[in-house]
Order: sequence, then C-alpha cells, then structure tokens
Amino acid sequence: MARVSIQCPQCSAPLDFLEECNVVRCGFCGSSLLVAGRDGILRYVLEPKLKTQAEVRASIETTWPLEKRRNYKVVEAFLLHVPFWRIQGRCYSWFFGTECVDQNEEDPFLPPQRRWSKELVARVVDHTILAKEKFPLETRTLGVRTQTMTLKPLEVKASRSLLQVDVTKERALEILGEVCQRVEPPKGLKKEFVLNRAVGVRLSLVFLPMWYVEISSRDGAEAFLIDAMDGRVSRPGGMKEGWIGELLIGEQPGEWEALRLVPFRCPNCGWDLPHRPQDTAHLCSGCLKLWTEKRGNWIEIPYEVALHENEGSIERCLWMPFWKVRVGLVRKGQSLEKVGELRTVLGSEGMACQMDGKGPIWFYIPAKIYPNPKGHQDLATRLTSLQPSLPLGCFPSDANIDYASIELSQKEAMDLIPSILAAMVPPGNRRALGWLLEARIVTMEIKMCFLPFRQEPLFWREIHTGAALPRGKVADSTLAQRD
Ligand SMILES: [Zn+2]
Ligand SMILES: [Zn+2]
Repeated sequence: MARVSIQCPQCSAPLDFLEECNVVRCGFCGSSLLVAGRDGILRYVLEPKLKTQAEVRASIETTWPLEKRRNYKVVEAFLLHVPFWRIQGRCYSWFFGTECVDQNEEDPFLPPQRRWSKELVARVVDHTILAKEKFPLETRTLGVRTQTMTLKPLEVKASRSLLQVDVTKERALEILGEVCQRVEPPKGLKKEFVLNRAVGVRLSLVFLPMWYVEISSRDGAEAFLIDAMDGRVSRPGGMKEGWIGELLIGEQPGEWEALRLVPFRCPNCGWDLPHRPQDTAHLCSGCLKLWTEKRGNWIEIPYEVALHENEGSIERCLWMPFWKVRVGLVRKGQSLEKVGELRTVLGSEGMACQMDGKGPIWFYIPAKIYPNPKGHQDLATRLTSLQPSLPLGCFPSDANIDYASIELSQKEAMDLIPSILAAMVPPGNRRALGWLLEARIVTMEIKMCFLPFRQEPLFWREIHTGAALPRGKVADSTLAQRD
C-alpha cells in the first residue's frame, strides 16, 4: 500500500500515513488532522534514491560494461521528473445472459437447457500510464511500484524539472474505460448484455525522478536516462541538444489541487471530531452535526435517524449509515421520478416495495464498505427495492451512539446507482434492461440515514425491514468488539 509523506502543519514534524486514510494523527504533537483536497487532481513526486551526481556516476560505474567506461566524461547530468497518470477506482460489471441448467440425465440426447442469469464482477483498478505521448521510454507504467511507493505532495519549487503532461485527463479516463471493458464474464455465463461502471474514480499525477545524463567518450557523445529509483538505464533514441528544454513546464495554477492537513474539529462547536481514519463523513459528538470536506471547506450533511419505539435503548443498536439518494431517470425525453413508475419498468419481481407508488425513488446505499462488494450491493438492492416506510427522528443529544464507519463518499454512492439498478432488473427482462442501459440518472437530493441493526447469532438484522447482514462484516463497531 502506498504511503503519503507530508509535514505536520502544527509542529512541522514529518508525518507518514497510509494513502487511504482520511484522518491522521501526528505522532509528535498528537494533533488529529483531516486529509483535505482529495476531490481534485493531486500531484505527487517519488523521492529519488540516486540523489547526487556522485551517486549517478557510481551507478554508471557499476552498471556499464568496462570497455564503455574507459575515458568517458559526464558532460551533463540533471534530474527530471517524468509524469505518470495514476487511475484508481473500482469497476463494476453486470453480466446478463444465459447459463446451462443441469443436463437431463434421462435423455442425454436432448440439448442442454439454458436459463436467464446475471452476475456482478467487481474489480479494483490501480493503474498508471505514462502521461507523455512521444516520450521514448521503454516502461509505460510504474508497474507494481504503486503498491509500495512513498508519495510526496509536489511542491511548486520542484516544477523546474517537471516534464510537460501531454496525455489529457480525458484520455486517462478513456483508458480506465478500456480497462473496465476487458473484464471477463463469469464462467458458465453466455453474455448477452453487459453494464460497466467505474466507481469512485480518482486521478492523480505521480512524477518519477529520472537523471538525464550526457557523456562523451572515445565512441562519441551519448545521452540516456537513469531511473533515480531503481538505477535502470533507458536509452531514448533521437535525443538531441535542446530536446529536454522544450519539455519542461512552467507552473499552471488552478488546474491542480493541493493535498493538505487541516485541524480536525467541528466547525460549529469546536469539539474534536471522532478519530476514525477511514471515514469520509464525521459526526460531531458535541452538537450531533454531520460533516464532510469538499475542496478544503466543511459541508454539513443532512441526516435522519430511523427510530423504533419498541426496541428500547438507542445505545443497544448498531447504527448503520446509508446514503439516501433521491433519483430520477430520464430516457428519450421521458422522465421517471416515482416509485410506481419505476415498478412499471422493472416489474413487481424487481421491486417489492412497502410504500405506495406515488412517493419519490430513494436509493439506500450502505456507507460502510464491506469486504465483499456483492454483500454491499445486496443490502443496497434489498432496501432500495423495499422503499421502506420509516419513522424518522434524531439522535438524543446525550446518547452514546455506536455507528459503523462512513467510508463510502457521496460521489462513490452516486456512482453505484446504475449497478444497483442493474441488480434490480430480473435477468430475463430484456425490455427493462434496454430501458436501463439507455436511461440517464439524475440525482436530486442526497442525505444520510442511520438505520438500527440488532445483533443476532449469525446476522446483524435491520429492525424495520428485517434486512440481514452476516456478522463479522462490521468489525469496527464497538458492539461487535464486545463479544
Ligand atoms: Zn505535529
Ligand atoms: Zn459540533
């Protein structure tokens, strides 16, 4: 896993943390800090291992054949930073098609029976590509280095050595699309339709330090690049004088976001927010307001609590956070905003709702990420197709609330909507599927809803709907730790 290396804004001590953390603590001064700026494109540099010209010379000495090294002179050696796009996210692919039913044993000459089927394949994407089109480098990616690298946020003063990025952001996203297209259908399923969606896409630039070296020897002059991380030498053809000068960039402000650490305190009442490293939204235990960060600003998130009169203490439940998103679907100028209309498209097999058909369509997406994407998707689909009727209220101010982590961001939740819709389409319903593939999803409102889950021997069970979640998937809860 990649690490980020930055300075503590409070005490200037070096601070290292795992890339996926959203809340970090300085080991030196103990400040709790929020990692801000992640919604834009961040730029990082990798720290070179070959730092000085002397080290470069030593590297040449050890890697070059003896006869080449005789009487050579380093004419020039300087450090360059070569940009790579890093594309991170998850790819959800729903495959619709047919699968073989067990052959009829009594009559093996009958053709095998097929039935409609569908399956979800979810993949994590962490891909790097060279962000320079005509750069004569043999490696086009950073390879497995992304898993172990230490990323340092780029400081502007380093920009003199940065090579220009000429592969656009749009092209990088296209490449992600191509990666998603390559996902193979599950075994045994004959594909008829596929719905691919990228979820939680994050783009960043990672600059790889490389030494540009020119030497002259008896054989003439030669130029090459040395990877400052692993010492590997590349000999780009067609390097001529002044070639490098054209490629360096000046700073273009505004295009990039800067990663920074900000004090992790409630902007309303000044209390320290709960230190939960993975969370993307933060519930203040002082004033019970729920916050998230966008472009360095605190944004309050409205939320509701599905209370239950007969279930006794609020403190005995595990509260599971769900993003509750109101959507409309638009296709060929026709728009669909009510539960009943969606049920007409999906059929009653796809939607067994508790509400009458006149209400708006709410999606319920667990904000906790489970290790198994299918389990996550199942819970979302179950609640969304139910459209539960819930008695809503708020947490009492003195209660000690146990809630699962709020890991999924609002954006990721919205990205998941097409996949949840696909999960609601009955496998053989071509008409519904066709409708869905052509429809555009419009998000109208987003809030958070906390639902109470009761502990049972094998499951956590939602009190209002009976929706169940296997135990052991919610390990971060203090309730779960108690047993
Ligand atoms: Zn500190
Ligand atoms: Zn507060």
